[in-house]
Amino acid sequence: MTAGELVLSWGAVTHEGRRRRVNEDCYLAGDGVFLVADGMGGHDAGEVASALALEALSPLRGVTQVDPDVVVGLVATAQARVRGIDTGPGGRGAGTTLTGAVVAYQDEVPYWLFVNVGDSRTYLMSGGTLDQVSVDHSEVQQLVDAGLLTEQEARRHPRRNVVTRALGADDTPAPDFRYVPVVLDDRLLVCSDGLTVELTDERIAQVLLDHPDPQQAAGRLVDEAIAAGGRDNITVVVVDVTGAGDARDRSATSPREAWGEPDEDTVPSGAPAWGASTSGQEDA
Ligand code: MG
Repeated sequence: MTAGELVLSWGAVTHEGRRRRVNEDCYLAGDGVFLVADGMGGHDAGEVASALALEALSPLRGVTQVDPDVVVGLVATAQARVRGIDTGPGGRGAGTTLTGAVVAYQDEVPYWLFVNVGDSRTYLMSGGTLDQVSVDHSEVQQLVDAGLLTEQEARRHPRRNVVTRALGADDTPAPDFRYVPVVLDDRLLVCSDGLTVELTDERIAQVLLDHPDPQQAAGRLVDEAIAAGGRDNITVVVVDVTGAGDARDRSATSPREAWGEPDEDTVPSGAPAWGASTSGQEDA
C-alpha cells in the first residue's frame, strides 16, 4: 500500500454543552492528524492549554514518516508550553488531556499511531464493533481495574473528572502509544469525556453504525450528549478510511501491539502546517 492510496474522510463537532460557559476542548483534524485535547484550569486557562497543546503537535500534519520519538518530543514541547501558562496568584495551574491518532507509514504500510494522556478517548470501529483503544488515566479507571467499580458506575462517580495523568501536571507525563495497521472501512472516534459521560459505548456504537457520513455521525453524537445533559464540553472527531489500496485483513498484518515502546525504525519528514477544518477528505 503506498501513500497515495489511503483516502480519509472526517467530520468534527465541538460544543460547550449546557452547563459550561466556556469550551475548553479543542481538536485538530486533517492531514493525517486527528487529535482532541480537553483543557482544565481556572480563569480560562483550560482553553489556552488545549489550544497550545494541539498547536505544539501541529507540525505532525502531513508528515508520513512519523518517528515516535518526534511525537514524544512534541508532547514534551506541549507539556512545557502548558506548564508555562500563567494562571495568576493562587491559580491551580493549567492542564490538558490529549488523545487521538496520527497516520504513520512503515515500509509503505499505513498505521494509526495512537497517543493518549488523560481521560479523553480514542475508539476504533472495525467490522461493526467498537473498541476503546486508549486507556483512561483516571481515578475511576483505577477503581474499575481493581474491580471496585463497574463502567456504568464510573460514569456517574463524583470523582469521574479526576485524571491521573495530564499535560501540564508536575511530572512529565508518559503518554501511551500504540500502533495499529490502517484497514479499509476503519472508523475512528476521538472524543472528550463530555461525550462518554453522557452516552454508553453501546449507544455511541449504534449512532456510528446509523450514520455513514462522518460529519453527520459527529453531529448526532454531540446532539445526543447535549440531550442527555450536556454537563461538560463535548468534542467528537469521526474519521473514515474510505480508500486503502490493497486493503488487507487486519489479522493478516502485525498483531495489535500492547501500549508500550513503539517501533522506532522510521524517519520524520515534511513541512509544518496549521489550520482547522470541520470536515474534509484527503489522500493521506
Ligand atoms: Mg471534559
